[in-house]
Amino acid sequence: MTRPPLTLYLAAPRGFCAGVDRAIKIVEMALSKWGAPVYVRHEIVHNKFVVDDLRAKGAVFVEELDECPNDRPVIFSAHGVPKAVPAEAARREMLFVDATCPLVSKVHIEAARHHDNGLQMVMIGHEGHPETIGTMGQLPEGEVILVETVEDVGKITPRDPEKLAFITQTTLSVDDTAEIVAALQARFPAIIGPHKEDICYATTNRQEAVKAMAPKADAMLVVGAPNSSNSKRLVEVGARAGCQYAQLVQRATDIDWRALQGIRSVGITAGASAPEVLINEVIDAFRAHYEVTVEVVETAVENVEFKVPRVLREPA
Ligand code: SF4
Repeated sequence: MTRPPLTLYLAAPRGFCAGVDRAIKIVEMALSKWGAPVYVRHEIVHNKFVVDDLRAKGAVFVEELDECPNDRPVIFSAHGVPKAVPAEAARREMLFVDATCPLVSKVHIEAARHHDNGLQMVMIGHEGHPETIGTMGQLPEGEVILVETVEDVGKITPRDPEKLAFITQTTLSVDDTAEIVAALQARFPAIIGPHKEDICYATTNRQEAVKAMAPKADAMLVVGAPNSSNSKRLVEVGARAGCQYAQLVQRATDIDWRALQGIRSVGITAGASAPEVLINEVIDAFRAHYEVTVEVVETAVENVEFKVPRVLREPA
């Protein structure tokens, strides 16, 4: 049987970012240094494949610190944790390693600096996302007001509109966030913020690549997890950039071949927590159905790398 031709656009950059790469290395190095079990508070990164792989090597994933024994190491996920969490680990004299992405820590430092200068914070982020919880948890209750939409900006009642600063989650949609920032600046002209927002290089670059790829693809698949904020934003960005069919898939088995009937091109990308092995699995699935020609759509070259903490770098 002859397979129909298909142009497969492959976004670059896609997949793992420096923060995810570092967080996974931290768990692997902790396992090799201290042996299993090593506890990890929350999914180290939002990807089931990665989590299952580390679990098989001896990592134990929990949601709260009180599920960890005092005498085993615990690692905090790349999303960051409220200040109270390391404080409690220190009080219990636990061995802990913080795998918070340095770009999330930068936002934590920014928030603390503004707070020290007497400003109340507005955080643009998604309620309930661990990064938002971690960042809001850097300051005392009531010091950070969360807004998720432009409409929310009209509803908030800060203590003093003249003494405000904003911060953002790192994995938001660049375009949506720009609208929310504009609404904040219109309502609170004195508000202080970062130069643009706190959206990280990896989120920005993956969205740019999707914007370049999506208009020419009949369909677009984002390899990523349903709880991965940056992956979900890539689906939205693809749809908004003109792709008729943009879907999130965790594995090749999630591909809805019936919905793809008649397509002549597909765009593939992956969220920052999706490993390349899963992207290759999806490409191979397309090769089984079509005569595939791959075209890379490259909009940026990344060479960011973050060091692992010293405690893991020293010889055991
Ligand atoms: S998406 Fe950005 S902020 Fe999040 S872990 Fe990756 S580099 Fe860090």
